Amino acid sequence: MIDWFEILKRFGVDYIDSGSKTTRGHVNVRCPWCAEDNGHHLGLSLKTGRFYCWRDSRHCGSDSAFALAHVAVISYEQAVAEIGKVGVSPGETIAELSERFSGLLRKKHSRVYEDLEWAKEMFLPTQQHGAGFLKYLSRRGIEGGSLVFADYNMRVAISGRFAYRILFPAYTKSMRQIGWTGRTVSHDCKARYLSHPDGRALGSAVFCHRVITSISGGVLVLCEGPFDALALDQVGRRYGVRAVAVFGVSMGLAQLGVLMELADSFDRLFILFDRGAMGSAERLRASLSAFSPKILRLPSFVDDPGELSHEKIIKLCRELVVQR
Ligand SMILES: [Zn+2]
Repeated sequence: MIDWFEILKRFGVDYIDSGSKTTRGHVNVRCPWCAEDNGHHLGLSLKTGRFYCWRDSRHCGSDSAFALAHVAVISYEQAVAEIGKVGVSPGETIAELSERFSGLLRKKHSRVYEDLEWAKEMFLPTQQHGAGFLKYLSRRGIEGGSLVFADYNMRVAISGRFAYRILFPAYTKSMRQIGWTGRTVSHDCKARYLSHPDGRALGSAVFCHRVITSISGGVLVLCEGPFDALALDQVGRRYGVRAVAVFGVSMGLAQLGVLMELADSFDRLFILFDRGAMGSAERLRASLSAFSPKILRLPSFVDDPGELSHEKIIKLCRELVVQR
């Protein structure tokens, strides 16, 4: 038996347990996967841990912790701690469940995030909880799995507005987190990146606090996107090459300030933008002319630094440290 009443009350989730939409032995809540659920269409079994939606038969499963994570908008790990793993069928792992539901995500979340630091549903993925995210990272050529997330203070979510996104923190020079940007791992999600508070607010920040906190001369490379910076920094740090992302290419004065302070701590500065953003790279070079930055060109057939292979990144880093 699952004490859904007690659990739902604790998380302040509105539920019903009588009326035409309920069946015996169940409690009903608003379906977190239906775009608009003004009724209470998701039934949670008190006995088996199963859950299913009256409006959309795809919104069903047998892992009660997965349902709780979405209904209460908390991480899967926290949900397991709250409820235990009840009703998990051997047929579907959390990774498979996440994959199945990532394609069903249609709900517009109206939740307002007041904090600029991580929300409670954002967590560090492990092989048990969030293996899909680790696979995605490795498909993009970034090895290290869950250690990378811990190392760069990145998060993921499977519920809430940022569900099925890899979340990169945005920092000011004083190491204050002022939001994040999330890259979707779902194929059919049109918005590749979603940011909090919004794209403009991130214009005064950079990704990669590792770089900010471990400055010791060497080479700094400015990239556009967080994946580019992550790929380069992860390999480059062994060679004395560090990388930060500027979150897009439209830099405001506040961000230039952050970049100038950072650049001041390094011996040499490079700009490595996507092939299609050479104009922005030139403008940035002009703004940072006091540090004589050089613009790096990508090899032919490579459009953005994130596409560089591990070997190509090593080669690039070796060249950068000897360049004068
Ligand atoms: Zn539903």
